[in-house]
Amino acid sequence: MSGLGKGITAASVGRILKNRGYAVTAVKIDPYLNIDAGTMNPGQHGEVFVLSDGSEVDLDLGNYERFLDIDLSSAHNITTGKVYKSVIEKERRGDFLGETVQIIPHITDEIKSCIRYAAHLEIPGQPQADICLVEIGGTVGDIESMPFLEAVRQMRGELPPHDTVIIHVTLIPEDTMGDLKTKPTQHSVKALRELGLHADIIVGRSERPIGSHTKRKISAFCDLPVPCVISAATVPDIYQVPMELEKEGLADTLTQHLGLEKRPPDTDWYHLVTREYTRRVNVAIVSKYGIEDVYLSIKEALKHAGRALSTEVMITWLDAERYEKNHLRDFDGILVPGGFGKRGIEGKIEAISWARTHKTPFLGLCLGFQMAVVEYARNVVGWEDATSAEMGEGRHVIAILPEQQEVKDLGGTMRLGDAQVTLREGTLAIGLYGKREITERHRHRYEVNPRYIPDIESAGLVFSGTCNNRMEICEVPDHPFFLATQFHPEFRSRPTRPSPPFLGFVKACAEKIKGESG
Ligand code: GLN
Repeated sequence: MSGLGKGITAASVGRILKNRGYAVTAVKIDPYLNIDAGTMNPGQHGEVFVLSDGSEVDLDLGNYERFLDIDLSSAHNITTGKVYKSVIEKERRGDFLGETVQIIPHITDEIKSCIRYAAHLEIPGQPQADICLVEIGGTVGDIESMPFLEAVRQMRGELPPHDTVIIHVTLIPEDTMGDLKTKPTQHSVKALRELGLHADIIVGRSERPIGSHTKRKISAFCDLPVPCVISAATVPDIYQVPMELEKEGLADTLTQHLGLEKRPPDTDWYHLVTREYTRRVNVAIVSKYGIEDVYLSIKEALKHAGRALSTEVMITWLDAERYEKNHLRDFDGILVPGGFGKRGIEGKIEAISWARTHKTPFLGLCLGFQMAVVEYARNVVGWEDATSAEMGEGRHVIAILPEQQEVKDLGGTMRLGDAQVTLREGTLAIGLYGKREITERHRHRYEVNPRYIPDIESAGLVFSGTCNNRMEICEVPDHPFFLATQFHPEFRSRPTRPSPPFLGFVKACAEKIKGESG
C-alpha cells in the first residue's frame, strides 16, 4: 500500500548494507503512465524531487539520496510511461519488424533492461554499486504493477540464486481489541505466490513492535523462517529505522540470502541520529499547502541542520491565505518555500516583509526568493505595483526566462537540475558555503528581471550569487539572517552533509532566542 513506508524501508535496507561497506544504488518503479512526476500535483503525490541531471522524480529518490548519500539519475526512476514510450518508439523504428509486440515479452524485457541499466550505471565520483535496491510502488494485485512483478519473476530465474532477495513490506493492523492481525499479510503473500514470487523476508509495518507470537504465526502461514519476519514499528524519526531493522537482525538475514560476507557495521550513522538536542527553535513555513509531504525535502533539510547544531527544529505550517499576522511573532524564523501560481502570494509577501522589518531570520526558496525580491521592490524601492509575470499585471520585477518564452509542453521543460553559481566576496552566502563556486539544483521558469536589477541593488538588496547574469541568491544586509535562493538547496541536503543555507538559518534562529533571553 502507499503510505506504508516502503520507501523508507528500502532506503534503510540500503543504509544497513552501506554501513557494512557495500556500495548501494536504488531504483524506484512507479507503475503510472506519466513519464515522470514533473506534471503531477504535489498535493496528491507529494513533493516532486529534482535530481542533479534535472529529472523530476518521485520523492522516494530523495529518501534514497539522503539515506545512502549518493546521487541518482533519471534512469533510477522507472515508470510505466517511460517503459511503454521506449517500446513504442522501437516498434515505430521497426526494431521488432514482423513480431506482434506484447506485454510479455516486450514490455517485461524492457523493464528488465531498465533495471539492469540503472543498476550498472556509473555516476561520476561514486563507486560502482554492489547491490541495487528495486522498490516497486503500488500494491500486490494491482493491474498496474503486474508487468513489473512478472519482470522480477523472470529476472530471478535468470540470475544465480543468491543474487536476488525479495522483501515484502506489509501492514500489520491492530484490531479493536489491540491485537495485531496477520491476515492481510497472509493474503498478500498468497497474491505474490500466485504471481510466482516468494517473499524471502517480510517487513511488518505496525504501530507497535511485533512480538514473537505474531512472528511465529507469520512464519508458519507465509512459509519462511522466524528470523526472516522483521518487525518495523513506527518510530519518531525516519533516520532511526535502519537501527531498528538492525536490532531485528535484518543485516544477517540479508547477507545470508545474498551470499555476502558478514561484516561489522560502521557506527557513524548510529552516532549521527542519536545525537541529543540541547535547544529548540520554532520555525513557521508559510505556504499554499499545509501537507508535509509536499515540502518533504525542506522538512528533512531543517532536520539535518538541526541535528548538526544539536537544535530541534519545530515546524508550524501556516496557510499563506489565512494565517494571523500577529502569530508571526511566535516564531524564531520564517521560511517561504517554492511554489507555482498566485494563490497565497500576498500572504507570503507579508510574511517576508514582517521578517525583514522585525529582524526575524528568513529563508526563501525559489518562489520564496522571487517574492523576497517583489517585497523589496514594493516596500523599499517604492514600486507598489511590483509583481511576478507569473502572477498577472504589474511591474514585472520577476519575468519569464528568455528561453522559456517559446516553451509549449509542460513536462520536463523548466530550467532544471544542477547549475553552477558564483558567490560574491564579503557576503553572507560566501560565508555559509565557504567557497566561491557552488552547484545547486533548480526548477523554475521565471527569474529576476535584468531590467530592474540596478535599481533594486542601489536600494540595498544584495545579489550575492549569480549564474552568468542570472540572479541566484539575494540577501538583506544589516539583518541577522535574510537569505533567499532561486535554486533549491533542500534537494542536496543530507543527514551527513547539511545544506549551508539551512545551517545558517537554523543557527540564526537559535541565536535569536539566545539574544532575547540574554
Ligand atoms: N513558479 C516559480 C517559477 O516557475 C517558482 C518555481 C518554484 O518555486 N519551484 O519560476
